[in-house]
Amino acid sequence: MSPEPILRLEGVSKYFGEFTALDNINLEIDEGEFLTIVGPSGSGKTTLIRILVGIEELSKGKIWLRDKRIEEMPANLRPTCMVFQSLALFPHRSVGENIEFPLKLRKQRPDDRKARAFELLDLLHLPRSFYQKRISECSGGERQRVALARALAFDPEILFFDEPLSALDFRLRKNLEKELKDLHQRTGKTFVYITHSLEEAMVMSDRIAIMRSGHFEQIAVADEIYARPISRFVAEFMGEVNLFSVKGDVSGNLVGTEIDIQTGRVGPDSAMRLGQGASATLMVRPESVHFLSEDSAADFVVGGVLQAEYALGSRTQYKIQADNGDELAVEKLREDRFPGKIGDRVRLGWNAEYAHMIMEE
Ligand code: ADP
Ligand code: MG
Repeated sequence: MSPEPILRLEGVSKYFGEFTALDNINLEIDEGEFLTIVGPSGSGKTTLIRILVGIEELSKGKIWLRDKRIEEMPANLRPTCMVFQSLALFPHRSVGENIEFPLKLRKQRPDDRKARAFELLDLLHLPRSFYQKRISECSGGERQRVALARALAFDPEILFFDEPLSALDFRLRKNLEKELKDLHQRTGKTFVYITHSLEEAMVMSDRIAIMRSGHFEQIAVADEIYARPISRFVAEFMGEVNLFSVKGDVSGNLVGTEIDIQTGRVGPDSAMRLGQGASATLMVRPESVHFLSEDSAADFVVGGVLQAEYALGSRTQYKIQADNGDELAVEKLREDRFPGKIGDRVRLGWNAEYAHMIMEE
């Protein structure tokens, strides 16, 4: 049984004058889900969640919280809370006062408030001594944690996060990503999270929604988005990728000008076929491409010259200049590093099961 949606958007649009920031959005968010919205700057992510928490009015459409329409409900009556990109803390108050603010609104006793504030400080790995510290004396990363602590103090049903980790340094961010995921599992609350970072989205989310110019281009589980993007835009947005233009010939076999396709190896049942004259984009991720030895074959083969090698820690990335001038990426685990050197001629290959066809237009 799939859970009931906690939030449902139907035909939600937002206009700023002539400009369409959100274009007829439909979306269902399941109870307890961790949904991440990813998209370029200006695609409408912040506008969407401002509308969902009630800070911004929509121009058109309906929003349901379970079976209740909420698009006209004031923000303070909605069981939602938002963690901002830029912080909305009280700079001259202490960390403790900031975290306790929602509890004070609910008239909790000072002792209970303080106990809860300490729990939240612990949870976010802030020293308890910070309770007395002023926000204006905290670093950017510390403020972000205080903002997270305060959002959790609201104890809302749905938490919205607008790039809360983007200003933090790498290690802190990695820790907090995992903590947020953990926190999500422990609280069972619904999280809606905006990020620029593919890795952040992949690490934390149940589903990922890719936003582009005010609409959702694709909504699916992380693995589906990564392996089977529906457009070039999604493919390129979700990390390094190699893309090739292909066409179908008279017998439905793929032909490409940029790659050598060993059609004999791609059987008639394969998804790697196109109608005559139809065109598509063939995608393969860097980790699925292999350096071929002289005598080995693959369904798809490209020749080129090794241009650069980058150590990424556990993996090594290679840039290859293909014979048609395109730049291709290959990734190997550190222990499978390619023994060649820069300037070597290489043959790259991969098989049909690791390729994905993007049918667009
Ligand atoms: P994102 O969060 O994805 O970067 P935003 O939702 O902040 O994008 O903005 C989407 C678009 O709407 C942008 O082009 C932005 O300039 C525009 N926009 C946002 N708020 C306003 C506003 N109050 N008035 C006019 N245009 C706005
Ligand atoms: Mg934004």
